[in-house]
Amino acid sequence: MAFNKVIGQNLAITILRKQLESDRLSHAYLFLGEQGVGKDIAAFEFAKAINCQEKNTDACDQCISCRKADNQNHPDIIEIKPDGKWIKIDQIRQLQREILYKPYESRWKIYLIHQADCLNLEAANSLLKILEEPPRYAIIILVLDSIENILPTILSRCQLVRFRLLPDELIKQELISNYKLSMEKSQLITSLAAGRYKTAVQLVEDEERLAEREEMIELILSLKNSEQVIVFESAERLLEYAAKISQTLELFLLWYRDLLLVKLNQLESLVNADYRDKLTEEAERYSVEEIEEIIRIVQNTNNVIKKYNVNLQLTLEVMLLKLSKLGR
Ligand SMILES: [Zn+2]
Repeated sequence: MAFNKVIGQNLAITILRKQLESDRLSHAYLFLGEQGVGKDIAAFEFAKAINCQEKNTDACDQCISCRKADNQNHPDIIEIKPDGKWIKIDQIRQLQREILYKPYESRWKIYLIHQADCLNLEAANSLLKILEEPPRYAIIILVLDSIENILPTILSRCQLVRFRLLPDELIKQELISNYKLSMEKSQLITSLAAGRYKTAVQLVEDEERLAEREEMIELILSLKNSEQVIVFESAERLLEYAAKISQTLELFLLWYRDLLLVKLNQLESLVNADYRDKLTEEAERYSVEEIEEIIRIVQNTNNVIKKYNVNLQLTLEVMLLKLSKLGR
């Protein structure tokens, strides 16, 4: 049934089922967890179950209400997503007006706010006003990646439901049974997905990301004692991934963590297991301390890029220059 579309997350689903069973629903929920762990699907299925005509602890997927929701035309389940980078004040003002009208055909009128991390301050303050005095038939579900991105005053008015990163073993098994992947490929994708099933599925469906991994490995290998001109060219290539540079730098970290694993003789845990020979060869060039130093440099670069409005090209050039000087 419907909650079955969510992989893992037994604790969160149990909490939601109990809510449905008790019939003491809260007016506001906050679904919190990292990107790609299943909270958007869970929020949608929860909304369906709330308005399902079978009134069970899960959506039936068969009644008119469930079917309307699945066809994206349920008048009492309304989804809000960022318009561009932000959820704008106009979107929340519209909610503020429309929430005053009773549900058309269901008991509850439910608003799903996806990526609530993107509420700008003005919009968040308007939303807070609604949460302070919600109509008795209204339920608002906020879906959020990071608790740092929401006003504490909003948080305090929501019932929190946490979604965890998934165990690697579970993701691997799901990939093998749903996509018939080989052991090696499912291992690789599971490692790249780092606990996020949705990300794993995207990797299966998006060969580009795997191609990107190969390009980054090639780039890393070309840094070996390289001249400055190569470093600058490499920075240019990295800039092509500017929009998701953080994910791209993750590929660097996975490579260097693999080098550490080789040093520690833990070859069975390698992410880039298909590069085992190359990794073994490369590990010879570095001391453990040097690899740790590289990992620190990449992590710091990633943090700086995330937190501050830096000159990306320059920051990447500095990082690559440092990397090219380490190792023999
Ligand atoms: Zn139903």
